[in-house]
Amino acid sequence: RHLYISWYVLVRHILFACVCLHADEPLWVLPEADTTVYLNFMKSHTCYDAIPISCKLVIFDTTLQVKKAFFALVANGLRAAPLWDSKLQRFVGMLTITDFINILHCYYKSPMVQMYGLESHKIETWRDVYLKSPTQFLISISPQASLFDAIYSLLRYKIHRLPVIDPESGNVLHILTHKRILKFLHIFGKNLPKPAFVKRPVQELGIGTFRNIATVHQTSSLYEALSIFVERRVSALPVVDGQSKVVALYSRFDVINLAAQKTYNNLDMTMEEAIRRRTCCVEGVMKCYPDESLETVIDRIVKAEVHRLVLVDRLDVVKGIISLSDLLQALVLTPAGIDALLS
Ligand code: ADP
Ligand code: ADP
Ligand code: AMP
Repeated sequence: RHLYISWYVLVRHILFACVCLHADEPLWVLPEADTTVYLNFMKSHTCYDAIPISCKLVIFDTTLQVKKAFFALVANGLRAAPLWDSKLQRFVGMLTITDFINILHCYYKSPMVQMYGLESHKIETWRDVYLKSPTQFLISISPQASLFDAIYSLLRYKIHRLPVIDPESGNVLHILTHKRILKFLHIFGKNLPKPAFVKRPVQELGIGTFRNIATVHQTSSLYEALSIFVERRVSALPVVDGQSKVVALYSRFDVINLAAQKTYNNLDMTMEEAIRRRTCCVEGVMKCYPDESLETVIDRIVKAEVHRLVLVDRLDVVKGIISLSDLLQALVLTPAGIDALLS
């Protein structure tokens, strides 16, 4: 009887090993529980959990001049601010670097012509010119809402700044971003069991954008780059040479350098020059390769504190973009059956 049980156990072990060898994922990782691990993490944590104990927050009244507002962002080292309408006594929107890009793109003629709109407009005047529908509203979230809801709003509305507003006081507590949420997961979710798919190559998983990548040539003008930002609504452009090899990365954030250095009157400068002149940027280009695992990509993007990696082949030719939006979609929304990146 003892011998019979030993044989039975041995056969079970062999069968188990065979299944493990043939399956893509090891047997001890249950497929369903596996893929929902980050979804469950985000659903079980609130926005309040992810906001810092203290932070600097600047709010602009909509009667402030746009130019002064962008200088104030620079002076405070900030990327965005909520807008307060004192007549309506409520927050009506956000002012971000994308708005600065839109203003420059709208009013720029040449280095010889002063941009009247930038010099004289108040924030409210610009919003009247720019916002097509008067029902444009502020997208915000309550501190008690889940991080899952925050991710959904960021991706669904294609924004990068989500103010957390206390429903009782009406105060803005913090501005959540993709970076902050992924970093929160990276720190507090590090003891979670890792799903098998994180070991698979990113391109095989189809995470990212692989076609029709918006790039800018290094000899193109800065104005051309701003036009691509406006038309394609992308958050960054790989800067390429004549062989389509990536030589730099120019993100919407970098445009704030023009306000910091007061050089926004010359958008005819080449991208090479714009890149040379910018300060506070990441050294080199943060890249990844199609055969690298999702886990490697996540570690690199979190450590580098950038919003995206440029996917390249071994010759540095641009093949795609993997941004934090793509990662949050894949880790959190796809397991919930939601595709928020579809336009
Ligand atoms: P950036 O990447 O430059 O920080 P966003 O992608 O967040 O900018 O902003 C894109 C546009 O959406 C801008 O015109 C900005 O004012 C607007 N916007 C950003 N966040 C919000 C929000 N929470 N509610 C309403 N509009 C927003
Ligand atoms: P944000 O925090 O507003 O999302 P970004 O991450 O887009 O800002 O950009 C912050 C800085 O990091 C910018 O100077 C930008 O050029 C740089 N940067 C972003 N992504 C990369 C990358 N993949 N390689 C090199 N530099 C990058
Ligand atoms: P982001 O605005 O960077 O969070 O990304 C939103 C979506 O746009 C993601 O699916 C990205 O892969 C994609 N994306 C970002 N930058 C580019 C680009 N330069 N060209 C094409 N797609 C991009």
